[in-house]
Amino acid sequence: MTAQIIDGNAVAKQLRTEVAQRTAALKGKGITPGLAVILVGEDPASKVYVGKKVQACEEAGLHSVLERYDADLTEAALLARVEALNQDPSIHGILVQLPLPAHIDAHKVIESISPAKDVDGFHVASAGALMTGTPGFWSCTPYGCIKLLESTGIDLRGKHAVVIGRSNNVGKPMALMLLQKNATVTICHSATKDLKAHTLQADVIVAAVGRRDTLTADMVKPGAVVIDVGMNRNDQGKLCGDVDFANVKEVAGWITPVPGGVGPMTVTMLLVNTLEAAERVAAG
Ligand code: NAP
Repeated sequence: MTAQIIDGNAVAKQLRTEVAQRTAALKGKGITPGLAVILVGEDPASKVYVGKKVQACEEAGLHSVLERYDADLTEAALLARVEALNQDPSIHGILVQLPLPAHIDAHKVIESISPAKDVDGFHVASAGALMTGTPGFWSCTPYGCIKLLESTGIDLRGKHAVVIGRSNNVGKPMALMLLQKNATVTICHSATKDLKAHTLQADVIVAAVGRRDTLTADMVKPGAVVIDVGMNRNDQGKLCGDVDFANVKEVAGWITPVPGGVGPMTVTMLLVNTLEAAERVAAG
């Protein structure tokens, strides 16, 4: 069997077109969805990420503001900026790019964002909303994985999903979202004994570890859906995921490539969340 490729670029493009259409409709009512992105320091990867986020906003017609500060910005000054953005009616979403310099308590900063503007979905209120199945913002990367799964047309109800990884930003919310989609969910992590015994039972596998070749072909049930969140480098310095793509695609039914799978979805879901934040304001 050769797996069908889940094309993240195509799914992202479709969603961004829908965001642009809904944004235009909202502008007709006098509201332009606005995203504020705060970058503290000079981390090169962070600079690339925030640049992509701002560019994606512009392309979809959203208003965006990039605030850049030196690495010696005080925690108090950052908290004051977040509070000002909380009060700013032209801003519907606030994103503080992580990591922050060591002298700033990232948790405190994230918790200072108004939950109504927490479009990254990292606030405890957003995590609680996901856990209880109440309205909130789903964090962008796992939410993007759900959209990729939906693009296959496969109904997740009753499927056995195995999530490898339990981070607060990917693994745990991923598991909760799959649960909300009525999958039966197993979470694996570094202390899991016999990972293969779990993955071999899975109809859906989401790998979010950060180590290449974590999932190999002998660990996958024929026909399973494989979502690869990992971002690693191979020996040639090329971007690769957690999955041994070349061999797993011969066993799986569906698979995401790296690059071109989950990657394009993260920024896309940020646009979706920001638009939805503005639509909620418009709805009163
Ligand atoms: P993380 O915080 O480092 O978490 C990694 C998880 O993998 C941990 O829960 C860890 O278990 C688990 N793990 C480590 N070794 C394992 C093993 N041998 N078997 C099973 N589980 C193991 O990383 P993250 O933030 O979740 O990110 C995971 C990967 O996704 C990274 O490559 C990251 O770059 C990528 N990522 C991509 C995007 C995107 O947009 N494409 C977005 C976010 C993250 P313990 O909890 O026991 O330590």
